[in-house]
Amino acid sequence: MRQHKLALCKEHYLEWIPEQTERFIKKYAMFTKAEKILVAVSGGKDSLALWDILTRLGYQADGMYIGLGIDGGIEYSDESKRLTEKFANEHNLKLHIVDVEKEYGQPIPVLAHVSHRGKGKPCAVCGLAKRHEMNRIARDLGYDVLATGHNLDDEAAVLFGNTLVWESEYLLRQGPVLPARDGLARKVKPLCRFYEREMAAYSIARGIEYIYEECPFAEGSQSIYYKELLNQMETARPGAKLTFYLRFLEARKNGNLFIEKNTAAAHLHPCPKCGQLTSTDDFCSFCRLIEKAAASTPTG
Ligand code: SF4
Repeated sequence: MRQHKLALCKEHYLEWIPEQTERFIKKYAMFTKAEKILVAVSGGKDSLALWDILTRLGYQADGMYIGLGIDGGIEYSDESKRLTEKFANEHNLKLHIVDVEKEYGQPIPVLAHVSHRGKGKPCAVCGLAKRHEMNRIARDLGYDVLATGHNLDDEAAVLFGNTLVWESEYLLRQGPVLPARDGLARKVKPLCRFYEREMAAYSIARGIEYIYEECPFAEGSQSIYYKELLNQMETARPGAKLTFYLRFLEARKNGNLFIEKNTAAAHLHPCPKCGQLTSTDDFCSFCRLIEKAAASTPTG
């Protein structure tokens, strides 16, 4: 790990990662051992590693897998579900499975197609559905906190993209913890200070079987492009990504972001259909999406 000027053997590396994670959990006041954590697990290295680390540290962490119905020639969703279930079974952990098609009648690519959102890519609809389902399960099953496996590369790429166009609202909200709000569980990212390759190394060293393939729709995405640019900087200047992210968090904490806070927070009220908060006077975006999909799907 050139950014830390540190090299560890397997045994010490497998101790170092949970120790550091525990440090970040405490530093950012993410959660305590008394709280119930719901880990969003996709079958990839980061989310499975997160679940593994939290369990090793003695936290009450259950998993949640969302079946998106994405095929792409490699049966991406089937394989990621198989690996998530395998991990849960091997470690005797509780896993909640939500299947979007069973729940709402169509898989994500069809929902995206019939709603004409996302210019041919289902990512906007997929993100909306994942956020909605994570909030729903956390609320319905009484979890205190939702944990996702976002790593430093993910966070730096999002930060880079938002900085390029000065997305002030997003910049003010980005961070390791998004506090609970009006019935929405707190959201945390305990791996946000680990590089992607550090999480891959952890998963391999722990013998975690994870899905290597990216979602087929990730190809050519903007976030991959930003990650490549940041990797070039990292190669020339080890630690550049970490410094970029940590200095941002510091500036945000100290109120030095040079972004004026919009003090008039958006007025939110519960969606009349699902009860989740929305800023519109009507159903929330997700319920409108499902209505639109149902209306455009031929019956019988
Ligand atoms: Fe969903 Fe795949 Fe897009 Fe990620 S890349 S948001 S999993 S469709």
